[in-house]
Amino acid sequence: MIDFHCHLDLYSSPEKVARECIERGLYVLSVTTVPSAWRRTAQLAAGAKRVRTALGLHPQLAHQRFGELTLFDKLLAETPYVGEIGLDGHPEFRRSWDIQGEVFAHILSSCCRSGGRIMSIHSRRAATDVIDALERFPNAGTPVLHWFAGSFRELARAAAMGCWFSVGPAMIKSKKGIEIILRMPRDRIVTETDGPFAHVNGKQLMPWNVEVALAGLADVWNLSVPDTARLLADNFRTLLRTSPAFA
Ligand code: MN
Repeated sequence: MIDFHCHLDLYSSPEKVARECIERGLYVLSVTTVPSAWRRTAQLAAGAKRVRTALGLHPQLAHQRFGELTLFDKLLAETPYVGEIGLDGHPEFRRSWDIQGEVFAHILSSCCRSGGRIMSIHSRRAATDVIDALERFPNAGTPVLHWFAGSFRELARAAAMGCWFSVGPAMIKSKKGIEIILRMPRDRIVTETDGPFAHVNGKQLMPWNVEVALAGLADVWNLSVPDTARLLADNFRTLLRTSPAFA
């Protein structure tokens, strides 16, 4: 199983959660929200081949942490994965909208210069702006839109430009989420949890709860769970092969 977007460092016992991921043989993309958290978050997975740590600067923190872009650029050579990055158009973050745009453009341009990265991207209430930015930086790498909740039109645009999508249990529990999933290119979907932020039935999601997404996708696609798991594993391998900077 694959959790392509979770925040290992933000669980109350990160070491314990990381250890359990390793014991379960889970593939994990452990995303970070600030560059200064990257090294110690990567340490959580030291020696674990299946747990990779992405270098990020979350749009909700852009206005407080833009000063870490220098560190971001310095660390970028060390990882083929970038995230969590993106834009957040929620009214709560309206005041930081301009700086979010500058930070996101800076990161995309750094990714271009570095030969491209696999990028886990946040696009809440900002799908059009995220897609516009990705269009301006076509060599930034492979975008994976995480927990996509834009319109069908925005989805079609993102799909047409080659975006991937990571889908979690919370998305599968909503009717709108299912309608979106049905319109996504099936061969460009991977699973995620967005734990510990995402909850289902009041419970914080653990990385291994991707099994809920796996079962949900099987249901939505009308496939068996093993067939769905095979399809998702194929997708995952294809996605990793898009990494231009690293084999
Ligand atoms: Mn997240």
